[in-house]
Amino acid sequence: MKMSFRSKLMLSYLALLLVMSTAIYFYLNHSLQVSIVGSLKETLGSEAKLTASMMLRDSADIRHSAPLLAMEAGRSSAARVTIIDHQGRVIGDSEIPVDKLAEVENHLDRPEVRQALATGRGESIRYSATIRTDMLYVAVPLASHGDQRGIVRFALPLSSVDQALNRMHTMLGIGLCLALLLSLILSDIFSRLTSRPLRQIAATAAGIGKGDFSRRLPNVWHDELGDLARIMNEMAARLEEQLLTLSREKSRLDAILKGMGEGLMVTDRQGFISLVNPAFCSLFGVTEGVIGAPLSHISRHPALHESFSRVCGSGCELLEEMTLKFAGDKVLLTHWVPLGGDSASNGVVAVFHDITDIKRLENIRKDFVANVSHELRTPVTVIKGYAETLLDGLIKDNPEQAQKFIAVILSHSERLTTLITDILNLSELESAGFALELHSCEVEAVVRRAAAMVEKKAAAKGVAVVLPERSVTKALADPGRLEQVLVNLLDNAVKYTPSGGRVEVLVDSDADMLSVAVRDNGAGVPEESIPRLFERFYRVDAGRSRSEGGTGLGLAIVKHIVQLHGGTVKAENNRPARGATFSFTLQKGD
Ligand code: ADP
Repeated sequence: MKMSFRSKLMLSYLALLLVMSTAIYFYLNHSLQVSIVGSLKETLGSEAKLTASMMLRDSADIRHSAPLLAMEAGRSSAARVTIIDHQGRVIGDSEIPVDKLAEVENHLDRPEVRQALATGRGESIRYSATIRTDMLYVAVPLASHGDQRGIVRFALPLSSVDQALNRMHTMLGIGLCLALLLSLILSDIFSRLTSRPLRQIAATAAGIGKGDFSRRLPNVWHDELGDLARIMNEMAARLEEQLLTLSREKSRLDAILKGMGEGLMVTDRQGFISLVNPAFCSLFGVTEGVIGAPLSHISRHPALHESFSRVCGSGCELLEEMTLKFAGDKVLLTHWVPLGGDSASNGVVAVFHDITDIKRLENIRKDFVANVSHELRTPVTVIKGYAETLLDGLIKDNPEQAQKFIAVILSHSERLTTLITDILNLSELESAGFALELHSCEVEAVVRRAAAMVEKKAAAKGVAVVLPERSVTKALADPGRLEQVLVNLLDNAVKYTPSGGRVEVLVDSDADMLSVAVRDNGAGVPEESIPRLFERFYRVDAGRSRSEGGTGLGLAIVKHIVQLHGGTVKAENNRPARGATFSFTLQKGD
Protein backbone atom coordinates (compact mmCIF):
# COMPACT_ATOMS: atom_id res chain seq x y z
CA MET A 1 0.00 0.00 0.00
CA LYS A 2 1.37 3.37 -1.00
CA MET A 3 1.43 5.79 1.93
CA SER A 4 1.93 9.49 1.38
CA PHE A 5 4.82 11.31 2.99
CA ARG A 6 2.34 13.41 4.94
CA SER A 7 0.63 10.32 6.38
CA LYS A 8 4.00 8.88 7.34
CA LEU A 9 4.92 12.14 9.01
CA MET A 10 1.60 12.19 10.89
CA LEU A 11 1.99 8.56 11.90
CA SER A 12 5.49 9.17 13.20
CA TYR A 13 4.22 12.14 15.24
CA LEU A 14 1.45 9.96 16.68
CA ALA A 15 3.78 7.04 17.38
CA LEU A 16 6.11 9.42 19.19
CA LEU A 17 3.22 10.74 21.22
CA LEU A 18 1.99 7.25 22.12
CA VAL A 19 5.44 6.15 23.23
CA MET A 20 5.86 9.32 25.27
CA SER A 21 2.38 9.00 26.82
CA THR A 22 2.91 5.34 27.71
CA ALA A 23 6.28 6.13 29.29
CA ILE A 24 4.80 9.06 31.22
CA TYR A 25 1.85 6.93 32.26
CA PHE A 26 3.98 4.10 33.63
CA TYR A 27 6.42 6.49 35.27
CA LEU A 28 3.63 8.46 36.96
CA ASN A 29 1.80 5.28 37.93
CA HIS A 30 4.87 3.81 39.55
CA SER A 31 6.15 6.94 41.25
CA LEU A 32 2.66 7.86 42.53
CA GLN A 33 2.16 4.39 43.91
CA VAL A 34 5.58 4.50 45.59
CA SER A 35 4.92 7.96 46.95
CA ILE A 36 1.38 7.18 48.26
CA VAL A 37 2.50 3.92 49.87
CA GLY A 38 5.60 5.70 51.29
CA SER A 39 3.56 8.45 52.87
CA LEU A 40 1.04 5.90 54.22
CA LYS A 41 3.91 3.98 55.76
CA GLU A 42 5.20 7.17 57.37
CA THR A 43 1.75 8.07 58.72
CA LEU A 44 1.09 4.55 60.01
CA GLY A 45 4.63 4.42 61.53
CA SER A 46 4.12 7.74 63.37
CA GLU A 47 0.70 6.70 64.64
CA ALA A 48 2.08 3.30 65.78
CA LYS A 49 4.94 5.05 67.60
CA LEU A 50 2.48 7.46 69.22
CA THR A 51 0.23 4.57 70.33
CA ALA A 52 3.24 2.65 71.69
CA SER A 53 4.52 5.60 73.69
CA MET A 54 0.99 6.26 75.03
CA MET A 55 0.72 2.65 76.18
CA LEU A 56 4.07 2.71 77.94
CA ARG A 57 3.27 6.03 79.69
CA ASP A 58 -0.31 5.30 80.73
CA SER A 59 -0.05 1.75 82.00
CA ALA A 60 2.46 -0.51 83.59
CA ASP A 61 0.45 -3.58 82.69
CA ILE A 62 -0.03 -3.47 78.99
CA ARG A 63 -1.93 -6.72 78.92
CA HIS A 64 -4.94 -4.99 80.53
CA SER A 65 -4.84 -1.74 78.70
CA ALA A 66 -4.03 -3.17 75.27
CA PRO A 67 -7.61 -4.09 74.06
CA LEU A 68 -9.02 -0.67 74.93
CA LEU A 69 -6.09 1.21 73.51
CA ALA A 70 -6.18 -0.77 70.34
CA MET A 71 -9.92 0.07 69.95
CA GLU A 72 -9.35 3.78 70.53
CA ALA A 73 -6.32 3.99 68.25
CA GLY A 74 -8.16 2.07 65.56
CA ARG A 75 -11.17 4.41 65.80
CA SER A 76 -9.09 7.56 65.57
CA SER A 77 -6.83 6.40 62.77
CA ALA A 78 -9.23 4.35 60.57
CA ALA A 79 -6.56 1.67 60.55
CA ARG A 80 -6.64 -1.73 62.13
CA VAL A 81 -4.51 -1.63 65.26
CA THR A 82 -3.11 -4.82 66.74
CA ILE A 83 -1.07 -5.05 69.93
CA ILE A 84 1.08 -8.14 70.30
CA ASP A 85 3.05 -9.22 73.38
CA HIS A 86 6.71 -10.18 73.12
CA GLN A 87 5.73 -13.86 72.67
CA GLY A 88 3.60 -13.14 69.66
CA ARG A 89 0.21 -13.37 71.32
CA VAL A 90 -2.39 -10.81 70.21
CA ILE A 91 -3.42 -8.93 73.32
CA GLY A 92 -5.43 -6.19 71.66
CA ASP A 93 -7.04 -5.69 68.27
CA SER A 94 -9.28 -2.88 67.10
CA GLU A 95 -11.36 -5.27 65.00
CA ILE A 96 -11.49 -8.38 67.26
CA PRO A 97 -13.57 -8.48 70.45
CA VAL A 98 -11.62 -9.14 73.69
CA ASP A 99 -13.13 -12.55 74.24
CA LYS A 100 -12.02 -13.75 70.85
CA LEU A 101 -8.44 -12.60 71.23
CA ALA A 102 -7.30 -15.92 72.69
CA GLU A 103 -8.34 -17.62 69.43
CA VAL A 104 -6.14 -15.50 67.29
CA GLU A 105 -3.09 -17.30 66.10
CA ASN A 106 0.41 -16.38 67.21
CA HIS A 107 1.80 -13.36 65.27
CA LEU A 108 5.48 -13.82 66.07
CA ASP A 109 6.25 -15.19 62.60
CA ARG A 110 4.67 -12.23 60.77
CA PRO A 111 7.43 -10.56 58.73
CA GLU A 112 6.70 -7.04 60.00
CA VAL A 113 6.68 -8.35 63.60
CA ARG A 114 10.00 -10.10 63.17
CA GLN A 115 11.50 -7.10 61.43
CA ALA A 116 10.26 -4.72 64.14
CA LEU A 117 11.71 -6.92 66.89
CA ALA A 118 15.02 -7.09 64.99
CA THR A 119 15.43 -3.54 63.68
CA GLY A 120 12.98 -1.42 65.69
CA ARG A 121 10.54 -0.97 62.74
CA GLY A 122 8.83 -3.49 60.45
CA GLU A 123 6.86 -3.06 57.25
CA SER A 124 5.08 -5.52 55.02
CA ILE A 125 2.50 -5.61 52.27
CA ARG A 126 0.54 -8.84 52.05
CA TYR A 127 -2.64 -10.08 50.57
CA SER A 128 -5.32 -10.54 53.10
CA ALA A 129 -7.58 -13.44 52.31
CA THR A 130 -10.10 -12.16 54.92
CA ILE A 131 -10.84 -8.85 53.22
CA ARG A 132 -9.48 -9.87 49.82
CA THR A 133 -7.13 -6.96 49.32
CA ASP A 134 -3.48 -6.05 49.82
CA MET A 135 -2.76 -4.85 53.33
CA LEU A 136 0.01 -2.52 54.46
CA TYR A 137 1.40 -3.48 57.84
CA VAL A 138 3.68 -1.18 59.89
CA ALA A 139 4.93 -2.46 63.27
CA VAL A 140 6.92 -0.73 66.03
CA PRO A 141 8.13 -2.35 69.27
CA LEU A 142 6.85 -1.49 72.75
CA ALA A 143 10.16 -1.02 74.55
CA SER A 144 10.92 0.40 77.95
CA HIS A 145 14.44 0.69 79.28
CA GLY A 146 15.77 -1.71 76.66
CA ASP A 147 13.13 -4.32 77.58
CA GLN A 148 10.93 -5.28 74.67
CA ARG A 149 7.44 -5.85 75.95
CA GLY A 150 5.50 -6.21 72.78
CA ILE A 151 4.63 -4.84 69.32
CA VAL A 152 2.12 -2.24 68.09
CA ARG A 153 1.05 -2.97 64.55
CA PHE A 154 -1.01 -0.71 62.32
CA ALA A 155 -2.62 -2.22 59.20
CA LEU A 156 -4.39 -0.43 56.39
CA PRO A 157 -5.99 -1.95 53.31
CA LEU A 158 -4.30 -0.66 50.15
CA SER A 159 -7.67 -0.35 48.39
CA SER A 160 -7.46 3.37 49.17
CA VAL A 161 -4.18 3.47 47.31
CA ASP A 162 -5.85 1.68 44.41
CA GLN A 163 -8.67 4.22 44.48
CA ALA A 164 -6.13 7.04 44.35
CA LEU A 165 -4.37 5.32 41.48
CA ASN A 166 -7.69 4.78 39.66
CA ARG A 167 -8.47 8.46 40.00
CA MET A 168 -5.02 9.21 38.65
CA HIS A 169 -5.64 6.78 35.73
CA THR A 170 -8.87 8.55 34.85
CA MET A 171 -7.20 11.95 34.99
CA LEU A 172 -4.23 10.70 33.02
CA GLY A 173 -6.52 9.04 30.45
CA ILE A 174 -8.54 12.23 29.94
CA GLY A 175 -5.32 14.27 29.76
CA LEU A 176 -3.77 11.90 27.27
CA CYS A 177 -6.92 11.80 25.14
CA LEU A 178 -6.96 15.59 25.02
CA ALA A 179 -3.24 15.64 24.28
CA LEU A 180 -3.78 13.04 21.56
CA LEU A 181 -6.56 15.06 19.97
CA LEU A 182 -4.51 18.22 20.12
CA SER A 183 -1.49 16.39 18.77
CA LEU A 184 -3.58 14.97 15.95
CA ILE A 185 -4.62 18.46 14.92
CA LEU A 186 -1.11 19.86 15.37
CA SER A 187 0.55 16.94 13.59
CA ASP A 188 -1.90 17.37 10.70
CA ILE A 189 -0.98 21.08 10.49
CA PHE A 190 2.76 20.40 10.87
CA SER A 191 2.80 17.51 8.40
CA ARG A 192 0.87 19.67 5.92
CA LEU A 193 3.37 22.50 6.36
CA THR A 194 6.37 20.16 6.14
CA SER A 195 5.16 18.14 3.17
CA ARG A 196 3.94 21.12 1.09
CA PRO A 197 7.41 22.03 -0.27
CA LEU A 198 8.07 18.35 -0.88
CA ARG A 199 4.84 18.07 -2.88
CA GLN A 200 5.87 21.18 -4.84
CA ILE A 201 9.32 19.67 -5.50
CA ALA A 202 7.74 16.34 -6.54
CA ALA A 203 5.34 18.12 -8.95
CA THR A 204 8.18 20.14 -10.48
CA ALA A 205 10.37 17.03 -10.80
CA ALA A 206 7.46 15.21 -12.51
CA GLY A 207 7.06 18.15 -14.92
CA ILE A 208 10.79 18.13 -15.72
CA GLY A 209 10.60 14.34 -16.14
CA LYS A 210 7.82 14.80 -18.71
CA GLY A 211 10.03 17.17 -20.69
CA ASP A 212 8.94 20.61 -19.40
CA PHE A 213 12.48 21.84 -18.70
CA SER A 214 11.34 25.45 -18.26
CA ARG A 215 9.84 24.62 -14.82
CA ARG A 216 11.73 26.02 -11.81
CA LEU A 217 11.29 25.84 -8.02
CA PRO A 218 10.97 29.08 -5.98
CA ASN A 219 14.01 30.23 -4.05
CA VAL A 220 12.17 30.58 -0.71
CA TRP A 221 13.40 27.76 1.49
CA HIS A 222 16.54 28.30 3.52
CA ASP A 223 17.15 24.75 4.67
CA GLU A 224 18.03 21.40 3.04
CA LEU A 225 14.92 21.75 0.86
CA GLY A 226 16.32 25.07 -0.38
CA ASP A 227 19.55 23.25 -1.36
CA LEU A 228 17.52 20.54 -3.08
CA ALA A 229 15.47 23.14 -4.98
CA ARG A 230 18.63 24.97 -6.07
CA ILE A 231 20.23 21.71 -7.28
CA MET A 232 17.06 20.74 -9.13
CA ASN A 233 16.85 24.18 -10.78
CA GLU A 234 20.48 23.91 -11.88
CA MET A 235 19.85 20.38 -13.15
CA ALA A 236 16.77 21.48 -15.13
CA ALA A 237 18.70 24.43 -16.61
CA ARG A 238 21.57 22.14 -17.63
CA LEU A 239 19.15 19.59 -19.09
CA GLU A 240 17.33 22.32 -21.00
CA GLU A 241 20.60 23.60 -22.41
CA GLN A 242 21.80 20.11 -23.34
CA LEU A 243 18.48 19.31 -24.96
CA LEU A 244 18.67 22.55 -26.94
CA THR A 245 22.18 21.67 -28.07
CA LEU A 246 21.03 18.16 -28.94
CA SER A 247 18.03 19.37 -30.92
CA ARG A 248 20.25 21.93 -32.71
CA GLU A 249 22.70 19.13 -33.52
CA LYS A 250 19.85 16.94 -34.69
CA SER A 251 18.38 19.58 -37.00
CA ARG A 252 21.88 20.24 -38.36
CA LEU A 253 22.35 16.51 -38.96
CA ASP A 254 18.88 16.31 -40.56
CA ALA A 255 19.75 19.22 -42.86
CA ILE A 256 23.06 17.57 -43.79
CA LEU A 257 21.33 14.24 -44.43
CA LYS A 258 18.61 15.96 -46.49
CA GLY A 259 21.12 17.96 -48.49
CA MET A 260 23.35 14.97 -49.20
CA GLY A 261 23.33 13.85 -52.80
CA GLU A 262 24.48 10.39 -51.75
CA GLY A 263 22.14 7.86 -50.19
CA LEU A 264 22.92 7.11 -46.55
CA MET A 265 21.78 4.11 -44.54
CA VAL A 266 22.51 3.08 -40.95
CA THR A 267 21.81 -0.46 -39.75
CA ASP A 268 22.28 -2.30 -36.49
CA ARG A 269 24.56 -5.35 -36.39
CA GLN A 270 21.65 -7.65 -37.26
CA GLY A 271 21.09 -5.69 -40.46
CA PHE A 272 17.93 -3.87 -39.43
CA ILE A 273 17.74 -0.37 -40.88
CA SER A 274 17.73 2.42 -38.30
CA LEU A 275 18.27 5.55 -40.40
CA VAL A 276 18.00 6.55 -44.07
CA ASN A 277 18.14 9.92 -45.84
CA PRO A 278 15.86 11.18 -48.65
CA ALA A 279 18.54 10.54 -51.29
CA PHE A 280 18.65 6.88 -50.20
CA CYS A 281 14.85 6.63 -50.42
CA SER A 282 14.73 8.03 -53.95
CA LEU A 283 17.74 5.93 -55.01
CA PHE A 284 16.17 2.65 -53.87
CA GLY A 285 12.55 3.73 -54.40
CA VAL A 286 11.52 3.26 -50.76
CA THR A 287 9.89 5.49 -48.13
CA GLU A 288 11.02 6.48 -44.62
CA GLY A 289 8.77 3.61 -43.44
CA VAL A 290 11.64 1.29 -44.31
CA ILE A 291 13.16 2.06 -40.87
CA GLY A 292 13.09 -1.11 -38.78
CA ALA A 293 12.99 -3.35 -41.86
CA PRO A 294 15.80 -5.81 -42.63
CA LEU A 295 18.40 -5.11 -45.33
CA SER A 296 16.75 -7.66 -47.64
CA HIS A 297 13.74 -5.30 -47.81
CA ILE A 298 15.94 -2.90 -49.83
CA SER A 299 17.44 -5.38 -52.23
CA ARG A 300 18.17 -9.09 -52.33
CA HIS A 301 21.28 -8.47 -54.40
CA PRO A 302 24.05 -10.73 -53.02
CA ALA A 303 26.73 -8.00 -53.38
CA LEU A 304 24.87 -5.78 -50.90
CA HIS A 305 24.54 -8.50 -48.25
CA GLU A 306 28.09 -9.71 -48.82
CA SER A 307 29.51 -6.23 -48.25
CA PHE A 308 27.41 -5.83 -45.08
CA SER A 309 28.60 -9.20 -43.70
CA ARG A 310 32.22 -8.42 -44.54
CA VAL A 311 32.16 -5.09 -42.71
CA CYS A 312 30.36 -6.63 -39.72
CA GLY A 313 32.78 -9.53 -39.64
CA SER A 314 36.03 -7.64 -40.11
CA GLY A 315 35.11 -4.31 -38.51
CA CYS A 316 37.00 -2.59 -41.34
CA GLU A 317 35.87 0.06 -43.80
CA LEU A 318 34.99 -1.11 -47.29
CA LEU A 319 34.81 0.76 -50.60
CA GLU A 320 33.09 -1.22 -53.31
CA GLU A 321 31.47 -0.70 -56.66
CA MET A 322 28.35 -2.73 -57.35
CA THR A 323 25.75 -2.91 -60.07
CA LEU A 324 22.26 -3.36 -58.69
CA LYS A 325 19.32 -4.26 -60.85
CA PHE A 326 16.45 -1.98 -59.97
CA ALA A 327 14.88 0.67 -62.20
CA GLY A 328 17.43 -0.29 -64.83
CA ASP A 329 21.02 -1.22 -64.01
CA LYS A 330 22.42 1.19 -61.43
CA VAL A 331 26.12 1.37 -60.79
CA LEU A 332 26.74 2.33 -57.16
CA LEU A 333 29.95 3.19 -55.41
CA THR A 334 29.36 2.07 -51.82
CA HIS A 335 31.33 3.09 -48.75
CA TRP A 336 30.74 0.90 -45.68
CA VAL A 337 31.94 2.08 -42.26
CA PRO A 338 31.50 0.10 -39.03
CA LEU A 339 29.80 2.04 -36.25
CA GLY A 340 31.38 2.29 -32.83
CA GLY A 341 35.02 1.65 -33.57
CA ASP A 342 36.51 -1.45 -35.14
CA SER A 343 34.19 -4.13 -33.86
CA ALA A 344 31.07 -2.97 -35.77
CA SER A 345 29.25 -3.85 -32.55
CA ASN A 346 26.81 -1.00 -33.04
CA GLY A 347 26.08 -1.58 -36.70
CA VAL A 348 27.14 -0.16 -40.01
CA VAL A 349 26.88 3.13 -41.92
CA ALA A 350 26.70 2.80 -45.69
CA VAL A 351 26.94 5.64 -48.22
CA PHE A 352 25.63 4.93 -51.73
CA HIS A 353 26.94 7.10 -54.54
CA ASP A 354 25.06 6.67 -57.82
CA ILE A 355 27.79 6.66 -60.49
CA THR A 356 25.60 5.31 -63.32
CA ASP A 357 25.85 8.62 -65.23
CA ILE A 358 29.57 8.95 -64.55
CA LYS A 359 30.09 5.40 -65.83
CA ARG A 360 27.96 6.08 -68.90
CA LEU A 361 29.83 9.32 -69.64
CA GLU A 362 33.11 7.52 -69.12
CA ASN A 363 32.08 4.91 -71.67
CA ILE A 364 30.91 7.60 -74.08
CA ARG A 365 34.23 9.40 -73.67
CA LYS A 366 36.17 6.16 -74.27
CA ASP A 367 34.11 5.41 -77.40
CA PHE A 368 34.52 8.98 -78.57
CA VAL A 369 38.30 8.91 -78.18
CA ALA A 370 38.46 5.54 -79.99
CA ASN A 371 36.21 6.84 -82.80
CA VAL A 372 38.13 10.10 -83.20
CA SER A 373 41.45 8.22 -83.34
CA HIS A 374 40.00 5.84 -85.87
CA GLU A 375 38.61 8.65 -88.04
CA LEU A 376 41.84 10.65 -87.92
CA ARG A 377 44.10 7.69 -88.67
CA THR A 378 42.98 7.17 -92.30
CA PRO A 379 43.53 10.74 -93.62
CA VAL A 380 46.72 11.19 -91.60
CA THR A 381 48.13 7.85 -92.90
CA VAL A 382 47.15 8.71 -96.49
CA ILE A 383 48.67 12.24 -96.26
CA LYS A 384 51.87 10.84 -94.70
CA GLY A 385 52.25 8.04 -97.31
CA TYR A 386 51.59 10.28 -100.30
CA ALA A 387 53.86 13.05 -98.97
CA GLU A 388 56.70 10.52 -98.43
CA THR A 389 56.28 9.17 -101.98
CA LEU A 390 56.40 12.73 -103.34
CA LEU A 391 59.56 13.45 -101.35
CA ASP A 392 61.13 10.27 -102.68
CA GLY A 393 61.37 12.00 -106.12
CA LEU A 394 57.95 11.42 -107.64
CA ILE A 395 57.61 15.17 -108.35
CA LYS A 396 60.67 15.07 -110.61
CA ASP A 397 60.19 11.57 -112.01
CA ASN A 398 56.50 11.68 -112.74
CA PRO A 399 55.04 15.21 -112.35
CA GLU A 400 51.63 14.07 -113.67
CA GLN A 401 51.30 11.34 -111.04
CA ALA A 402 52.62 13.78 -108.43
CA GLN A 403 49.79 16.18 -109.32
CA LYS A 404 47.22 13.46 -108.58
CA PHE A 405 48.95 12.62 -105.28
CA ILE A 406 48.88 16.25 -104.22
CA ALA A 407 45.14 16.35 -105.03
CA VAL A 408 44.60 13.28 -102.79
CA ILE A 409 46.62 14.95 -100.01
CA LEU A 410 44.44 18.07 -100.35
CA SER A 411 41.17 16.13 -100.29
CA HIS A 412 42.25 14.26 -97.13
CA SER A 413 43.39 17.51 -95.48
CA GLU A 414 39.94 18.93 -96.25
CA ARG A 415 38.43 15.83 -94.66
CA LEU A 416 40.65 16.37 -91.63
CA THR A 417 39.55 20.00 -91.45
CA THR A 418 35.86 19.00 -91.66
CA LEU A 419 36.38 16.35 -88.99
CA ILE A 420 38.20 18.71 -86.64
CA THR A 421 35.61 21.46 -87.27
CA ASP A 422 32.75 19.01 -86.44
CA ILE A 423 34.55 17.73 -83.29
CA LEU A 424 35.19 21.31 -82.11
CA ASN A 425 31.59 22.22 -82.91
CA LEU A 426 30.30 19.29 -80.90
CA SER A 427 32.57 19.91 -77.94
CA GLU A 428 31.55 23.60 -77.95
CA LEU A 429 27.86 22.60 -77.91
CA GLU A 430 28.47 20.10 -75.11
CA SER A 431 30.62 22.37 -72.97
CA ALA A 432 29.06 23.35 -69.63
CA GLY A 433 27.69 26.86 -69.59
CA PHE A 434 27.22 27.04 -73.36
CA ALA A 435 24.00 28.88 -74.17
CA LEU A 436 22.36 30.01 -77.36
CA GLU A 437 21.14 33.53 -77.93
CA LEU A 438 17.52 32.86 -78.80
CA HIS A 439 15.35 35.44 -80.41
CA SER A 440 12.40 35.50 -82.71
CA CYS A 441 13.38 34.92 -86.32
CA GLU A 442 11.70 34.04 -89.63
CA VAL A 443 12.07 30.30 -90.28
CA GLU A 444 11.58 30.47 -94.07
CA ALA A 445 14.41 33.01 -94.41
CA VAL A 446 16.78 30.66 -92.55
CA VAL A 447 15.59 27.68 -94.65
CA ARG A 448 16.32 29.66 -97.85
CA ARG A 449 19.85 30.57 -96.68
CA ALA A 450 20.57 26.90 -95.82
CA ALA A 451 19.17 25.69 -99.15
CA ALA A 452 21.46 28.13 -100.96
CA MET A 453 24.44 26.40 -99.30
CA VAL A 454 23.53 22.97 -100.80
CA GLU A 455 22.10 24.37 -104.02
CA LYS A 456 25.25 23.77 -106.05
CA LYS A 457 25.71 20.21 -104.77
CA ALA A 458 22.04 19.36 -105.41
CA ALA A 459 22.13 20.83 -108.90
CA ALA A 460 25.32 18.92 -109.71
CA LYS A 461 23.67 15.67 -108.56
CA GLY A 462 20.35 16.43 -110.20
CA VAL A 463 18.36 16.50 -106.97
CA ALA A 464 15.53 19.01 -106.71
CA VAL A 465 15.23 20.99 -103.47
CA VAL A 466 11.67 22.15 -102.80
CA LEU A 467 11.22 24.92 -100.24
CA PRO A 468 8.03 25.84 -98.32
CA GLU A 469 5.65 28.50 -99.53
CA ARG A 470 6.60 32.00 -98.47
CA SER A 471 4.93 32.82 -95.19
CA VAL A 472 5.94 34.52 -91.96
CA THR A 473 6.48 31.66 -89.49
CA LYS A 474 8.53 32.86 -86.57
CA ALA A 475 10.59 30.66 -84.26
CA LEU A 476 12.47 31.37 -81.06
CA ALA A 477 15.94 30.42 -82.29
CA ASP A 478 19.57 31.26 -82.83
CA PRO A 479 19.51 31.89 -86.63
CA GLY A 480 23.17 30.84 -87.19
CA ARG A 481 22.72 27.50 -85.35
CA LEU A 482 19.30 26.90 -86.94
CA GLU A 483 20.94 27.38 -90.35
CA GLN A 484 23.66 24.84 -89.32
CA VAL A 485 20.92 22.27 -88.47
CA LEU A 486 19.17 22.79 -91.78
CA VAL A 487 22.43 22.66 -93.80
CA ASN A 488 23.35 19.33 -92.15
CA LEU A 489 19.92 17.81 -92.81
CA LEU A 490 19.69 19.15 -96.40
CA ASP A 491 23.28 18.04 -97.12
CA ASN A 492 22.47 14.51 -95.85
CA ALA A 493 19.23 14.41 -97.84
CA VAL A 494 21.08 15.43 -101.05
CA LYS A 495 23.90 12.98 -100.24
CA TYR A 496 21.60 9.98 -99.73
CA THR A 497 19.13 10.73 -102.51
CA PRO A 498 19.98 9.44 -105.94
CA SER A 499 20.10 11.63 -109.01
CA GLY A 500 16.68 12.80 -110.15
CA GLY A 501 15.39 12.62 -106.60
CA ARG A 502 13.60 15.27 -104.60
CA VAL A 503 14.27 16.90 -101.24
CA GLU A 504 11.50 18.90 -99.61
CA VAL A 505 11.48 21.22 -96.60
CA LEU A 506 8.17 21.43 -94.71
CA VAL A 507 7.30 23.91 -91.98
CA ASP A 508 4.25 23.27 -89.82
CA SER A 509 2.99 24.84 -86.58
CA ASP A 510 0.48 24.24 -83.78
CA ALA A 511 -0.47 26.34 -80.73
CA ASP A 512 3.00 27.00 -79.33
CA MET A 513 5.47 24.77 -81.20
CA LEU A 514 6.42 24.54 -84.83
CA SER A 515 8.07 21.67 -86.65
CA VAL A 516 10.50 21.70 -89.56
CA ALA A 517 10.97 18.52 -91.62
CA VAL A 518 13.45 17.64 -94.38
CA ARG A 519 11.95 14.88 -96.49
CA ASP A 520 13.65 13.04 -99.31
CA ASN A 521 12.78 10.16 -101.59
CA GLY A 522 16.12 8.38 -101.34
CA ALA A 523 16.83 4.89 -100.04
CA GLY A 524 15.72 5.63 -96.50
CA VAL A 525 17.32 4.16 -93.36
CA PRO A 526 17.20 0.52 -92.18
CA GLU A 527 14.61 0.42 -89.38
CA GLU A 528 17.04 -1.05 -86.82
CA SER A 529 19.46 1.86 -87.39
CA ILE A 530 16.89 4.60 -86.76
CA PRO A 531 17.32 4.70 -82.92
CA ARG A 532 21.11 5.09 -83.29
CA LEU A 533 21.25 7.68 -86.09
CA PHE A 534 21.84 10.63 -83.74
CA GLU A 535 24.79 8.93 -81.96
CA ARG A 536 28.24 10.31 -82.67
CA PHE A 537 30.10 8.58 -85.48
CA TYR A 538 27.16 6.29 -86.21
CA ARG A 539 26.82 5.58 -89.86
CA VAL A 540 24.68 3.03 -91.66
CA ASP A 541 27.35 2.60 -94.33
CA ALA A 542 30.69 4.02 -93.13
CA GLY A 543 32.40 3.56 -96.53
CA ARG A 544 29.68 5.39 -98.40
CA SER A 545 29.57 8.15 -95.81
CA ARG A 546 33.32 8.69 -96.06
CA SER A 547 33.28 8.72 -99.81
CA GLU A 548 30.58 11.38 -99.61
CA GLY A 549 32.84 13.40 -97.23
CA GLY A 550 30.71 12.63 -94.16
CA THR A 551 32.14 12.52 -90.62
CA GLY A 552 29.30 10.71 -88.84
CA LEU A 553 28.90 13.74 -86.54
CA GLY A 554 26.34 15.74 -88.54
CA LEU A 555 23.20 14.34 -86.91
CA ALA A 556 24.80 14.42 -83.42
CA ILE A 557 25.41 18.17 -83.92
CA VAL A 558 21.78 18.55 -85.13
CA LYS A 559 20.44 16.83 -82.04
CA HIS A 560 22.51 18.98 -79.67
CA ILE A 561 21.53 22.26 -81.30
CA VAL A 562 17.82 21.35 -81.33
CA GLN A 563 17.94 20.28 -77.69
CA LEU A 564 19.62 23.57 -76.78
CA HIS A 565 16.62 25.26 -78.44
CA GLY A 566 14.31 23.23 -76.18
CA GLY A 567 13.09 21.07 -79.08
CA THR A 568 13.24 17.39 -80.10
CA VAL A 569 14.51 15.55 -83.17
CA LYS A 570 13.03 12.58 -84.99
CA ALA A 571 14.02 10.34 -87.92
CA GLU A 572 11.56 8.09 -89.75
CA ASN A 573 11.19 6.33 -93.06
CA ASN A 574 8.44 7.55 -95.37
CA ARG A 575 5.67 4.99 -95.55
CA PRO A 576 4.58 3.81 -98.02
CA ALA A 577 6.66 6.18 -100.15
CA ARG A 578 10.44 5.82 -100.36
CA GLY A 579 12.97 7.91 -98.52
CA ALA A 580 13.39 9.30 -95.03
CA THR A 581 12.15 12.35 -93.10
CA PHE A 582 14.28 14.10 -90.47
CA SER A 583 12.25 16.56 -88.42
CA PHE A 584 12.69 18.74 -85.37
CA THR A 585 10.56 21.05 -83.25
CA LEU A 586 11.15 24.65 -82.13
CA GLN A 587 9.39 27.06 -79.83
CA LYS A 588 7.28 29.63 -81.63
CA GLY A 589 8.58 33.20 -81.80
CA ASP A 590 6.46 36.38 -81.67
P1 ADP B 1 27.43 11.51 -92.13
O1 ADP B 1 28.51 12.47 -92.00
O2 ADP B 1 27.87 10.09 -92.25
O3 ADP B 1 26.34 11.89 -93.00
P2 ADP B 1 25.49 12.00 -90.13
O4 ADP B 1 25.56 12.02 -88.66
O5 ADP B 1 25.03 13.22 -90.78
O6 ADP B 1 26.87 11.49 -90.66
O7 ADP B 1 24.53 10.83 -90.56
C1 ADP B 1 24.67 9.60 -89.92
C2 ADP B 1 24.17 8.48 -90.82
O8 ADP B 1 22.78 8.58 -91.02
C3 ADP B 1 24.70 8.55 -92.19
O9 ADP B 1 25.93 7.89 -92.29
C4 ADP B 1 23.64 7.85 -92.97
O10 ADP B 1 23.87 6.47 -92.99
C5 ADP B 1 22.38 8.11 -92.26
N1 ADP B 1 21.58 9.21 -92.94
C6 ADP B 1 21.57 10.51 -92.61
N2 ADP B 1 20.68 11.19 -93.38
C7 ADP B 1 20.13 10.28 -94.21
C8 ADP B 1 19.15 10.37 -95.25
N3 ADP B 1 18.54 11.52 -95.57
N4 ADP B 1 18.82 9.23 -95.90
C9 ADP B 1 19.40 8.05 -95.56
N5 ADP B 1 20.33 7.89 -94.59
C10 ADP B 1 20.71 9.02 -93.94
